[in-house]
Amino acid sequence: MSMRVVVVGAGITGVCAAEWLRRDGHAVTLVDRVPPGDRGQASFGNAGLLARCSVVPVSVPGLLAKAPGMLLDPDSPLFLRWSYLPRLLPWLVPFLRNGRRERMETIVGDIAALTNDSVEQHEALAAGTPAARFIRRGEYGFLYPDRAAFEADAMSYALKRAHGFTWEEHEGAALQARDPGLQPGHGFLATFPDHGWITAPGPYVAALAETFRAGGGVVRAAEVADVKPGTVTLAGGEELQAERIVLSAGIWSRRFAEGLGYTVPLEAERGYHLMLRGASHAPSHPCMVTAGKFVVTPMEAGLRLAGVVEFGGTAAPPSAAPVDLLRRQVRKVYPGLTWEEEESWMGFRPSLPDSVPMLGESPRAPGVILAFGSQHLGLTIGPRLGRMVADLAAGRRANLDLTPYAVDRFNA
Ligand SMILES: Cc1cc2nc3c(=O)[nH]c(=O)nc-3n(C[C@H](O)[C@H](O)[C@H](O)COP(=O)(O)OP(=O)(O)OC[C@H]3O[C@@H](n4cnc5c(N)ncnc54)[C@H](O)[C@@H]3O)c2cc1C
Repeated sequence: MSMRVVVVGAGITGVCAAEWLRRDGHAVTLVDRVPPGDRGQASFGNAGLLARCSVVPVSVPGLLAKAPGMLLDPDSPLFLRWSYLPRLLPWLVPFLRNGRRERMETIVGDIAALTNDSVEQHEALAAGTPAARFIRRGEYGFLYPDRAAFEADAMSYALKRAHGFTWEEHEGAALQARDPGLQPGHGFLATFPDHGWITAPGPYVAALAETFRAGGGVVRAAEVADVKPGTVTLAGGEELQAERIVLSAGIWSRRFAEGLGYTVPLEAERGYHLMLRGASHAPSHPCMVTAGKFVVTPMEAGLRLAGVVEFGGTAAPPSAAPVDLLRRQVRKVYPGLTWEEEESWMGFRPSLPDSVPMLGESPRAPGVILAFGSQHLGLTIGPRLGRMVADLAAGRRANLDLTPYAVDRFNA
């Protein structure tokens, strides 16, 4: 049965949902105040990874003990605007509690269930469209200063292995031969096969949205003022009526979901990128520089360094220190690296304290499907979430237990 559907938010989550809904035969309107792929979206500036093996959340056993030292260390990738701490605490406390071993292992499974087929999900959505040219298949590497640092991450690798991921290890002359730009005589690399990346995340979202539009979908440039079952109200008062509404407005979803009666402890994990144009060297595949918790990704426009976590809400302007850290750290890894131009960017990862998204609907707001909170993995899981949104809208049974992603799980 064809329905009218309005999708609020045209980042990677909303665009994928809109396109799968359109392919199901619905009359879909995608509403956003910025054009799909705009730099105001988290989906514009990410590291481009289809990181199916990134199943271990940020909150792990021992984080609480390590965090204060990290916050005081200028070379650490964790930043906090201290004045924001009181507002962060209601999110931070359950976030840290979710790092307990047993709970974390459950979360790893909940994440893996969404990431495991991510490269294939992107290929399936983009096949035969202009978006396909942005998808690369390849390895994903984790670069350490030395083998000891890699071994200190043993828990993470054991969890990855338990979920079917295997890796190869490279060091010494073999590592130097793989990547001659690396600091000589230094380093250890673990590479995971069968991964992928997007060579221009913003244009990729734009190309998917254009595919949606060319297929008969409607893209509306408008600010959404309110969401109620059956009605999306635009700023200015125009009302869009729909049998189904999808709320996929990234970090900005909170206000609308709370208006529908949901408890939504959604926090912005601010992340940064530094785009290096005319870089003298690029690895052949994306690499996580583990000491700086950022990824070096070869992209169409140059070399992108993206990552870092800063807590400070959405209102504060970008900070200088995370970008300085990216610049310093990349020089440690690639001492001879030069570039002609650079451009920095900050965006908001929409994160819930249990590190898994909200996906589904409930009797609180019939017909309104929530799809947000993809934290560090929104690009990776976008097409998968989009497909599941279309299944939910049609009333098809998911081939996955959706309980971990339940939209009212934070309601008392
Ligand atoms: C530095 C960094 C690196 C990252 N690296 C990766 C990576 O390598 N791989 C990966 O999988 N993920 C990565 N991520 C995470 C990923 O980018 C996000 O999870 C994902 O982009 C979230 O997508 P989204 O569509 O939910 O939100 P967004 O892309 O932020 O889109 C939300 C949209 O909603 C719109 N909107 C909000 N409110 C309104 C309103 N009132 N009216 C109209 N429109 C509205 C906004 O304008 C926006 O366009 C990274 C994130 C960062 C910050």
